[in-house]
Amino acid sequence: MSTNTIAVHLPDGSIREVPSGTTPLDVANSISPRLAAASVAARLTPVDQYVVKKLESEDGSEASMYAADDPSAPRLVDLSFPIKERVHLELVTEKDPDALKVLRHSAAHVLATAVLELFPETKLGHGPATDSGFFYDFYREKPFTPEDLAAIEAKMAEVVARNEPFVREHEPREQALAEFARDGDFMKTHFVTRFTEPGAQVSFYRNGAFIDFCRGPHVPSTGRVKAFKVTSLAGAYWLGDEKNPQLQRIYGTAFFSKKDLDEHFARLEEAARRDHRVLGKQLDLFSIQELAGAGLIFWHPRGAIIRKIMEDWMRDECLRRGYQLVYTPHVARVNLWQTSGHEGFYAGNMYTPMELDDAMYRIKPMNCPFHILIYKNSPKSYRDLPVRYAELGNVYRYERSGTMHGLLRVRGFTQDDAHIFCTPQQIESEVAACIDFAEAVLKTFGFQEYKVELSTWDPNDRAHYAGSNENWDLASRSLDNVLKSRGIPYKTIPGEAAFYGPKIDVKLVDVLGRLWQLSTVQFDFNLPARFELEYVGEDGERHQPVMVHRALFGSVERFFGVLIEHYAGAFPLWLAPVQIGLVPISERHLAYAQKVEAALKDAGFRVETDDRNEKMNAKIRDFANQKTPYILVFGDKEEGAGAVSVRTRGKGDQGSMPLADFIAKATALVEMQSMEL
Ligand SMILES: [Zn+2]
Ligand SMILES: [Zn+2]
Repeated sequence: MSTNTIAVHLPDGSIREVPSGTTPLDVANSISPRLAAASVAARLTPVDQYVVKKLESEDGSEASMYAADDPSAPRLVDLSFPIKERVHLELVTEKDPDALKVLRHSAAHVLATAVLELFPETKLGHGPATDSGFFYDFYREKPFTPEDLAAIEAKMAEVVARNEPFVREHEPREQALAEFARDGDFMKTHFVTRFTEPGAQVSFYRNGAFIDFCRGPHVPSTGRVKAFKVTSLAGAYWLGDEKNPQLQRIYGTAFFSKKDLDEHFARLEEAARRDHRVLGKQLDLFSIQELAGAGLIFWHPRGAIIRKIMEDWMRDECLRRGYQLVYTPHVARVNLWQTSGHEGFYAGNMYTPMELDDAMYRIKPMNCPFHILIYKNSPKSYRDLPVRYAELGNVYRYERSGTMHGLLRVRGFTQDDAHIFCTPQQIESEVAACIDFAEAVLKTFGFQEYKVELSTWDPNDRAHYAGSNENWDLASRSLDNVLKSRGIPYKTIPGEAAFYGPKIDVKLVDVLGRLWQLSTVQFDFNLPARFELEYVGEDGERHQPVMVHRALFGSVERFFGVLIEHYAGAFPLWLAPVQIGLVPISERHLAYAQKVEAALKDAGFRVETDDRNEKMNAKIRDFANQKTPYILVFGDKEEGAGAVSVRTRGKGDQGSMPLADFIAKATALVEMQSMEL
């Protein structure tokens, strides 16, 4: 390779010899001008380590800009980045997931440009992209007002219209620090001091008159930030310390098109409308009590009845499918957790030990060791296998404060946990049965779509995995076979298995297209060995069983949270806490109301009568606000005919029908676990 030309490897496998200093934009243009126009940034991966070292010693500024932990990792650069070494180059177009990050960070520069033009006394913090947009931290004595934000957004539109190129510049670190100190830019001084090495060149990005210390990359010019919005303002202390000045953090978001931006806000609105924390309060389903502690769920009667239905369904289904139900304690001696290995590997996720008379105890984070003790309590022969123990077991895991989120991330929850002990020959049929069961859960509770991931081991990394090669191969092959024979599409993720065995994860897709990790079927070659589990085989010898952990709801709390959001609180008839609301038109219809209520309760329905001295419409509205599936209204006419006037959720007034007919219809819907009314 000559010193003046370098090899650029492209994703199609071709290699281009180009002069040193060629930019990704040059490469894109040489492929097609259309590709060049569609590109936002580029992803470079060094072809070998030697080249990276050379790059660092030749050009200090680059090393300081991209002081990545892993020098062989891909990095994003500007389209104008001069390529000086042998690299794999991938052009990042608007469709690439990284493109949005580059766009949003660039939008943060546009925001800062606008702020300084309007409020020149403002000091700059930093402005990263986030999952849903971007923010920029500012220091200014006077807080920004909502009117200021509107003015800033308007000014941003001007900056975008000016289509200023983002230009990268370099300056010696000490010179930059002196300038920042002179201007009182305390935050920039901090960032440069912290993130660059003495003697380095530090990089800046300029657009128009605005200049910012930054690692990049950015879109080529401000004009690419076509669809953006300033969304909110929050206060935050500099470096999180209340002794420090208070900063103002302006949030915004940006997309490549107005359509994407509009869809984003429509989705946010819809997600907010479905937020299970809000609906949980509004429908009186559950609460989290400050006095009791974060991440601990209180199921109110209306939530508890749904939980009962979920649990009854699950237990009945387990029995039907050959599981045996067990119950186990909530705490156990530390010795048990030492034997299971949790005390070593999992201690950070467990509640701290408590001392009782005879020993130290810990609250259980998992049910597995308990089910193992039941298995071990009596000798097993191959004729006993598979043994399937199921339990709705309450477990407690430590989550950092501030990370809890409604029902989705908690410190105490209920696993619909089961452990299957079987022979290696039974693996395939057991996995098949677990997958069937998981599908039944999803279909029954109203989810049509799901995604499956198979995590397997990396045989080249043998030392990191417990269990024999044979068992790993057998288990991975069984999982593969089951998914293939059922025609279930799945993604294999090699090297992602836990150290103790391969697993299948099922992620359901909710009505907003969001993915939720719920069901998991996981092999374990480790615990049977740690607990020296055995069965006597057909050959009369002792063998070690294979163990499968599986949870289908995953966590009952979390599944309930997903259900609330999926249905936006409007549960199907068989799950609704109050299925039927009764509205007697006046006090003289109360006796008939009692009769109707008794008939419905006899038929097994959950019914509530609104016998308040209120207007009929107010009563109907209250039931409707609770998303009650059916509201039955009756006055003289209905009473005379033994009928009820039916209002169906989402469909309105359906007219009058004989009570017996309504009961027959509703009973059929419950039996079918129908999603429709
Ligand atoms: Zn930047
Ligand atoms: Zn388990």
